[in-house]
Amino acid sequence: MTDRTPLMAGNWKMNLNHLEAIAHVQKLAFALADKDFDAVEVAVLPPFTDLRSVQTLVDGDKLKIKYGAQDLSAHDSGAYTGEISGPMLAKLKCAYVAIGHSERRQYHGENEEICNAKVKAAFRNGITPILCVGEGLDVRKAGNQVAHTLAQVDGGLADVPAEQAETIVIAYEPVWAIGTGEVATPEDAQEVCGAIRDRLAELYSQELADKVRIQYGGSVKSGNVAAIMAQPDVDGALIGGAALDADEFVKIVRFRD
Ligand code: PEP
Repeated sequence: MTDRTPLMAGNWKMNLNHLEAIAHVQKLAFALADKDFDAVEVAVLPPFTDLRSVQTLVDGDKLKIKYGAQDLSAHDSGAYTGEISGPMLAKLKCAYVAIGHSERRQYHGENEEICNAKVKAAFRNGITPILCVGEGLDVRKAGNQVAHTLAQVDGGLADVPAEQAETIVIAYEPVWAIGTGEVATPEDAQEVCGAIRDRLAELYSQELADKVRIQYGGSVKSGNVAAIMAQPDVDGALIGGAALDADEFVKIVRFRD
């Protein structure tokens, strides 16, 4: 098994204006100044309109906090009003981009084909995709969470070559646990994250599967993160609501301290 550096990423969703973003990241930087970022990677995913402010801070202060976007266009340029492209995010030095978040799938009709095109757009522009997958409550109640989630993994990675796939981050986010306070048990998280790793081994190789980081997301907080992170196939967390509170996010990042 390869050592995988956990990735703790805060998805701010449509929250925090650019002044609030600056104050928030400064607070994180101060509170995490002693942190070994080689042992735990920390990233924030602000709204597009905050990216430049965050970039300025991170560049200027040589902070080790990484940042990325919550979505990108499948196209690199053209007549796509309102969209933000991979080259634009690359210019802002985004390290990551979330793709196929359940809110994008639910409110913007993003299906496997669209997610796959966006994964390819991210890689084409040197940005690491965080591919979000996970089942809704009805699927969970029917016991089909593994099959459902693996179909999303297959779809998102269709025709993605191994040299790209080995750097992807996959976030398993059961939809019923997002923003609901209803966290999956560590065993629930491990069941699906383990199945995702096995699928990567089938699609590519065990060596590749051992390199890929698989996050859990869904009502992660400082009080539940350690038990989830103790699972062998969970390599980080995608954190929504709790990431908006800098003190709480710092506690989550410090789950090992
Ligand atoms: C998310 O938005 O990806 C998420 C996991 O949200 P929350 O932590 O609020 O459930």
